[in-house]
Amino acid sequence: MISQQDTQVTRQTSNTDTADNFAAVQKVLPPSVTLIAVTKKQPIEKIETALAVGQRVFGENYVQEAYEHWHEKRHSIPELQLHLLGPLQTNKVKEAVALFDAIHTLDRLKIVEALAHEQQRQNKQLACFIQVNTGEELQKSGILPHELETFYTQCCDLKLNIVGLMCIPPIHEPAGLHFCLLRALGEKIGLTQFSMGMSDDWHEAVKAGATHIRLGTALFGARV
Ligand SMILES: *Cc1c(COP(=O)(O)O)cnc(C)c1O
Repeated sequence: MISQQDTQVTRQTSNTDTADNFAAVQKVLPPSVTLIAVTKKQPIEKIETALAVGQRVFGENYVQEAYEHWHEKRHSIPELQLHLLGPLQTNKVKEAVALFDAIHTLDRLKIVEALAHEQQRQNKQLACFIQVNTGEELQKSGILPHELETFYTQCCDLKLNIVGLMCIPPIHEPAGLHFCLLRALGEKIGLTQFSMGMSDDWHEAVKAGATHIRLGTALFGARV
């Protein structure tokens, strides 16, 4: 059982804390759940600490910053896995395909087409998650739930490797409901991977069947 108490992670920012935070999360995380450590806007020392404690799966939001953080390490750390968690612009598709192993934010046909074309050119396939706007919020990215099946079919027709769904619940609603909705939507079309859960709601996400959680501040403290 996961209890809130023994997983309380510190929000302080020293590197020792970062190591402690990893240990606290890993202690309660089921082995079936992949921890993506989100290093956007975090200093290099903390990235080094994460690598030192054995973390190999990382998430970034911006292609340029990700390149600065990771392009050299890509070659020296073969097990490194990089996930793009921010929206992808068409003019960054080439760099994104070259650098990343996975993308969590597919939600537009234009990007899907550009990605399919570039993957063929580079002979590389990323693991792709479709982002779903489960709260149907006007300002939020993601495909609407009722558009998902059509969009999924379009992605498959273009030979993308769609592995699962991703969501970011509305801030003022119970996250668990959105995680359950995401899982139901995915299972309906045969998808088995669910990228859900951030620093404030990952316990609920794990309970709802997350296969990937994306933690930034819970591991590294506030972004700079
Ligand atoms: C920044 C970000 C995260 C990490 O957020 P925290 O609240 O710091 O854990 C996870 N997922 C996405 C899509 C993000 O943009």
